[in-house]
Amino acid sequence: MKFKPANNIQDLQYFGEFGGVNPSISDSSTYTFLSAKTMFDTFEGNADGCYLYSRHSSPSNLYLGKALAAMEGTETANVTATGMGAITPVIMQLCGAGDHVVSSRTIYGGTYAFLKNFAPRFQVKTTFVNITNLDKVEAAITPNTKLIYCESVSNPLLEVADIVGLSKIAKKHHLQLVVDNTFSPLSVSPAKLGADIVIHSLTKFINGSSDTMGGVVCGSQELIDSLRSVNDGASMLLGASLDSLRAASILKNMRTLHIRMKQHSHNAMYLAERFEKDGLKPVYPGLASHPSHSLFTKMMNEEYGYGGMLTLDAGSKEKANELMEVMQKGNIGYLAVSLGFYKTLFSAPGSSTSSEIPEEEKAAMGLTDGLIRFSIGLDNDIERTYQEMKKCMKSVGVL
Ligand SMILES: *Cc1c(COP(=O)(O)O)cnc(C)c1O
Repeated sequence: MKFKPANNIQDLQYFGEFGGVNPSISDSSTYTFLSAKTMFDTFEGNADGCYLYSRHSSPSNLYLGKALAAMEGTETANVTATGMGAITPVIMQLCGAGDHVVSSRTIYGGTYAFLKNFAPRFQVKTTFVNITNLDKVEAAITPNTKLIYCESVSNPLLEVADIVGLSKIAKKHHLQLVVDNTFSPLSVSPAKLGADIVIHSLTKFINGSSDTMGGVVCGSQELIDSLRSVNDGASMLLGASLDSLRAASILKNMRTLHIRMKQHSHNAMYLAERFEKDGLKPVYPGLASHPSHSLFTKMMNEEYGYGGMLTLDAGSKEKANELMEVMQKGNIGYLAVSLGFYKTLFSAPGSSTSSEIPEEEKAAMGLTDGLIRFSIGLDNDIERTYQEMKKCMKSVGVL
């Protein structure tokens, strides 16, 4: 049977304490116990339905986690204060001194900086590989490797990971396959394709209103219990827990995620096709010219499309900056990092979100200074937007 992530979210019915249509928000950091024995059992992790302290879990956080686990088809999930607050505990939980990670070289700048500069302080080393080359991935595995790390659609180059192929390699070598699915919620369901752990920055499409941060780790009950352990759980001890008020607001926004993703994808596809016809070279997984077009098509939950992210090369850093400033003045969108907002966002990753990556490595992976990353908004009249963008491009000589 086909996996239907939006149905799984819709079927979750949570009533508020007084019959409200939204679940009540747990506005407390600590919880009472009627008996001291139950408090002890809760500490030991043996008292179901009891809450201890909100860094560990809260009713609101569990509601949101359940919805995200339903969306990804995993046993359970743990929500966190930010996307990085989900990523770093997973790596620290799975790896100790002497261990090794095989990671895609095109990943979120913060994740790259963590693996490259921070994790080595704890003797955790990473080999960065071209994730689209499965032979290279397998060749990088050592006896100390614990996990393979990638993004289903990579930031910012929109490379697509062959999750089925990577999962076969991971299983063969007894590794965990960790996939950051931030760019393609609903479109791709990594756990259904063989990923062991699926991570999201909720800050982006899932929340969708650029008003809060959040993250999630979706995986097995065993993994999530270990992350939350009061004795040695990285999520519990590093402390990046989500606030209940924010968990409640993200859950409400998640109820419209399926509608938003379809519109983001529709608009991005429209612009990518038009700009390609105009002779520009947009990078978008929905275009037949994208090297991973057929792979994405094979993996996707069709109705949600190819996502809202696309890139265009303006030729140089100066042209890119000029174009972005003109587009912002023209109210096409905002010159801002992040993604998944109702309005189009654009930035030049070479000098912003991926500035952690050294120049020669940027060149090797095709991350040019003129590259503009777009998170296409929910515009109702995308033809009008296209015409406006075209005017901007003509005015600065990109078209
Ligand atoms: C933004 C982002 C992150 C980090 O999430 P934060 O919520 O900013 O901590 C991780 N991965 C990807 C792909 C992202 O876009």
